[in-house]
Amino acid sequence: MQTVAQALAQARATGVDRLDAQLILAHVLTQGRSWVIAHDDAPLDAPQSDAVRAAFTRRAAGEPLAYLLGEKEFHGLLLQVDANVLVPRPDTEVLVDWALELLANAEAARVVDLGTGSGAIALAVKHGCPAATVLATDTSRAALGVARANAQRLALDVAFAPGSWWAALAGQRFDLVLSNPPYIAGGDPHLAALQHEPALALTPGGDGLDALREIVGGAAPHMAPGAWLLLEHGYDQAGAVQALLREHGFESVSTRHDLAGQPRCTGAHR
Ligand code: GLN
Repeated sequence: MQTVAQALAQARATGVDRLDAQLILAHVLTQGRSWVIAHDDAPLDAPQSDAVRAAFTRRAAGEPLAYLLGEKEFHGLLLQVDANVLVPRPDTEVLVDWALELLANAEAARVVDLGTGSGAIALAVKHGCPAATVLATDTSRAALGVARANAQRLALDVAFAPGSWWAALAGQRFDLVLSNPPYIAGGDPHLAALQHEPALALTPGGDGLDALREIVGGAAPHMAPGAWLLLEHGYDQAGAVQALLREHGFESVSTRHDLAGQPRCTGAHR
């Protein structure tokens, strides 16, 4: 029989960060992290020991903690996630905050989130602005399944449509278009550390700008008068995205920074 303290020692020996180990234990034991910290002597039964050991091994191999726990907090919402979707990042909350600022002055806005993955952006926007009509798309049916389940669990009325970028949206116009598309360049060494997440959500290959080009290039027929387009992009892509937006007739182009101080989101209106 293993105790919590012994499991934590095992985590350390496996190379798992202490906080991650506590969260894995809390998840398997269906307790909070503070309970784990206060109950060093609590016993684990055999299935719990096995589950904890398997999770430590996967974490040590680089699997995101969010996949092991099956959930990730984003903009105050607890989202369920699995390996079909990118793990929502705090950086993307900058995009949501910007969207909610714009929506504060709009009435009954139509919003779309292109490439929604877990549904993070669309659901956070609907949660922050219930009056908005929110649609979310993704080319991955598996991802849409995750997003739909999150919408249902959180009781947020978001509609979903399968399709790549604008393909799902023929004839539809929006007041606000949001996207965190794949933007990592094909040869970027950072991809190695992200190998557990769907490549489709991380990189379009090439210089990393293909999806951003497709979104900006195809936007015009889908933008209502005065509509805004807000895009997340790589730390070194703000200049390229700004140029792309101006090239396609957008105005008031500006960029916002993420929590690490990197230029992360660029937006403009028509
Ligand atoms: N921000 C993610 C990362 O660099 C990438 C997300 C994306 O490509 N949209 O880890």
